[in-house]
Amino acid sequence: MICFLKIAYYIDDLQNLAGFREIVENGVKVDYMTPDFPSLSYPNYYSLMTGRYCEVHQMTGNNMWDKDTMKEFLIGTNPDSRLPMWWDGSEPLWVTMQKLGKRVYMYYWPGCEVTILGVRPTFCEEYVYNPSEKNLTDSMESALNMLKSDKADMAGIYYEKIDVEGHHFGPRSPEIQRAIRSLDQAFQILHQKIKEKNMRDDINVVLFSDHGMTELKWMEKVIELDKYIDMSHIVKMMDRGPVVSVWPKQDKFEEIYQNLSSVDNMNVYKKQEIPHRFHYKNGRFVSTLTLVAEPGWFITENKAKLPFWNNGTEKAVGWQHGWHGYDNEFMDMRGFFLAQGPDFKTNFRAGPIRTVDVYNVLCKALGIEPLPNNGSWSRVECMLRSSAGAVRAALIYSFLLLLLLLPH
Ligand SMILES: [Zn+2]
Repeated sequence: MICFLKIAYYIDDLQNLAGFREIVENGVKVDYMTPDFPSLSYPNYYSLMTGRYCEVHQMTGNNMWDKDTMKEFLIGTNPDSRLPMWWDGSEPLWVTMQKLGKRVYMYYWPGCEVTILGVRPTFCEEYVYNPSEKNLTDSMESALNMLKSDKADMAGIYYEKIDVEGHHFGPRSPEIQRAIRSLDQAFQILHQKIKEKNMRDDINVVLFSDHGMTELKWMEKVIELDKYIDMSHIVKMMDRGPVVSVWPKQDKFEEIYQNLSSVDNMNVYKKQEIPHRFHYKNGRFVSTLTLVAEPGWFITENKAKLPFWNNGTEKAVGWQHGWHGYDNEFMDMRGFFLAQGPDFKTNFRAGPIRTVDVYNVLCKALGIEPLPNNGSWSRVECMLRSSAGAVRAALIYSFLLLLLLLPH
């Protein structure tokens, strides 16, 4: 029950989190999960599904640029984002499963719509921005039915609401607490349906997030690059926020580097000087200069380019109060991992793990041989029963982004 003290930090009314409580009491909870750098979504989706660091699988940002083809990868829907070059750097778990003749169902999971190494999952409900709670519960119902009727061997569901509320209102906001409570209700329904369908001994349920979130203060901690450098000397700039990729003109490179080196509250790295511990610098799409903000700071060209959010209208309605992407060792960037089912120990508390470790757990539970990866088996072996993987166990992973299990 100690786990729930941590949830309590974010949730006032703990007793009402019966859905999460059931998973923890009947399964495994890790202390926390350290994301890969950068602590952004796409890089970590791929680290989770390949077990490899970003510089190995090559998905190094939510927004990337390939200087050879001049093509852009942009978060969300963009035809160029489906090009094989962004995805074919490593083989994700669902592709391996399909190659082995198994059937994977994916709901709103970013990337399931892409043909990767020539393969697509059996079913993909394509990602849309911020699926509703009904989308979530319908997906759970559909996934359970497919698993129960033996039409699927694995199902994955991605749910974005916690991330969206965290960005808009901040990680300590009443809005995010409301979102977590309604997510908990969805889990209660899930448990109920698993019992009704008599599937408790047949499936493992694994829940995890791709990163955490930290609070951003209104306009107080913004780094405006055009105050320090002449932006016309920049060939390309990708993204804004905690990590920004910059390709200066060749003859201005040193000058730009020197000017940016003097900026407070951020670090600027030449590609080969990026800290090894980020496992990032050898990425094919990594820029010649990488800017990394101190926690809570936001890098942008100027304040006119700040990402105010809107309700699908032209009119910006507010500053974003939460962000992620910072140094992956920053405590607020930590994610969580919970698992329950026949392959997992009961009421088991495991030490901290890393995003790249999850792949080995999933492979074991699915009874498949993992591809070479950067995960540590010794960090995760403890949470699995010795019999794990002996029988075919279908999995649901619900992909959430939240902070509710951060240590305090
Ligand atoms: Zn986000």
